[in-house]
Amino acid sequence: MTTTTIEHWIGGRSAAGRSGRTATVTDPATGAETARVALADAAEVDAAVAAAKAAAPHWAASSLARRTAALFAYRELLHAHRDEIARLITAEHGKVRADALGEVARGLEIVELACGIAQLLKGETSTQVSERVDVEAIRQPVGVVAAITPFNFPAMVPLWMFPMAVACGNTVVLKPSEKDPSATLRLVRLATEAGLPDGVLNLVNGDKPAVDRLLEHPDVDAVSFVGSTPVARHVHRTASAAGKRVQALGGAKNHMLVLPDADLDLAADAAVSAAYGSAGERCMAVSVVVAVGAAADPLVERIAERARKLTVGPGDDPASEMGPLITREHRDRVASYVPRAREQGATVVVDGTGLSVPGYEGGFFTGASLLDRVTPGMDAYRDEIFGPVLSVVRAADYTEAIDLINASPWGNGAAVFTRDGGAARRFRLEVQAGMVGVNVPIPVPVGYHSFGGWKASLFGEHHVYGNDSVHFYTRGKVVTTRWPDPADAGVDLGFPANG
Ligand code: NAD
Repeated sequence: MTTTTIEHWIGGRSAAGRSGRTATVTDPATGAETARVALADAAEVDAAVAAAKAAAPHWAASSLARRTAALFAYRELLHAHRDEIARLITAEHGKVRADALGEVARGLEIVELACGIAQLLKGETSTQVSERVDVEAIRQPVGVVAAITPFNFPAMVPLWMFPMAVACGNTVVLKPSEKDPSATLRLVRLATEAGLPDGVLNLVNGDKPAVDRLLEHPDVDAVSFVGSTPVARHVHRTASAAGKRVQALGGAKNHMLVLPDADLDLAADAAVSAAYGSAGERCMAVSVVVAVGAAADPLVERIAERARKLTVGPGDDPASEMGPLITREHRDRVASYVPRAREQGATVVVDGTGLSVPGYEGGFFTGASLLDRVTPGMDAYRDEIFGPVLSVVRAADYTEAIDLINASPWGNGAAVFTRDGGAARRFRLEVQAGMVGVNVPIPVPVGYHSFGGWKASLFGEHHVYGNDSVHFYTRGKVVTTRWPDPADAGVDLGFPANG
């Protein structure tokens, strides 16, 4: 059997890998290799950046009508191909089909936002700031944008970036995760079909060498990155030192605070959905429940009851609620936290490790695990596990709980479950996180607001999509104009003052 090698997309056409390096792409449900992916070297990255640079002046000068026509056509194509894209996501990532379709739908939100770019790019003017002087503030494209994305949302995260980048008049080189590149490549090919001119959106597959070349390439002007915290830190540091603007979103450890007055059935449903959905491989997954006072015992019981009932299986089986993890190594690492938590003093309420799915014995499965009486010193609390392992930390009162949450090095999302409006209001103001849910466990903002965390969950000033993305993907320019009257003639060496 011949294995397909997934190629790059440069200047509007497929480009075979020439570096001689490839990586394996696997179906996580079976463990079988399904394809190889070319890993770009510096010369291949240079070719993609050159294509983006060559396309940049013409695209930046193209009318808003021309840009939005392509984006509206793209929206229609994505709708028409959403099942196909969801199938590609499930085949290489493993998440269940409904979740994959949800990912495409959330990505489409940003394409729809980008369709309205004409409204978002309107400048500001001030008339008659001085005698016969007007001021206009306009925003112009940055140039060539590098977009580097993680494995866990191979469609949604690229769609957070490139539609707004091209809508703002930039050209893009996208570097998707080498673990599940096919859905991302399909998105890029469809954008060409929708009418994006050759070179406006390019894709290079690759790993660290490709990323590092993008971070230092003199013709890359801005870098959007989403991935783990150590890599986000490296990206931010390296690209900033090379003089680029950077937004680098990192990992997370999201807390869900449950107060004793909360509806505990609703809270348990929310905790289970947010902890085990997509097998915990979401940057907005709830990985810690902080149960206050009397909420703890009944809440743990309710979560355990639900976690035990989850159906784990291949993502393309409609009966599966949770699919496999991305790789065997990652599955083993995730599973290792459960016995370690027991050794470190936690109570293992549900142990999902060691699960084997009949007919899929080679798949990278693990069941849902629930740890109770976890404390901040334990590995399960300290690390981003990125799998279906939920920790419960018990706190005596609200103050102890919020202090714990705010001591976390991460600050992506946080949620509070309560019926007390006053407590919810306090939490909303006091919690140190970029995205907050009140009785909402995964508060991923809608497209017209922006997504981003605090602390080690984001390096840089700008969040992604929403108004922040318009600012990130454009540069401001202020034009001061005077149409002189012959009466104004004369030299004046004073600093311009208005009057
Ligand atoms: P990752 O950091 O391993 O990889 C992200 C990207 O960086 C990939 O394209 C990869 O090829 C590249 N990369 C990996 N190692 C590199 C290195 N040493 N130098 C340069 N480039 C490198 O992340 P992942 O495992 O693909 O994704 C999961 C992580 O992403 C989790 O930590 C998750 O929380 C995070 N994430 C964050 C958000 C967010 O919005 N904050 C969203 C999704 C995922």
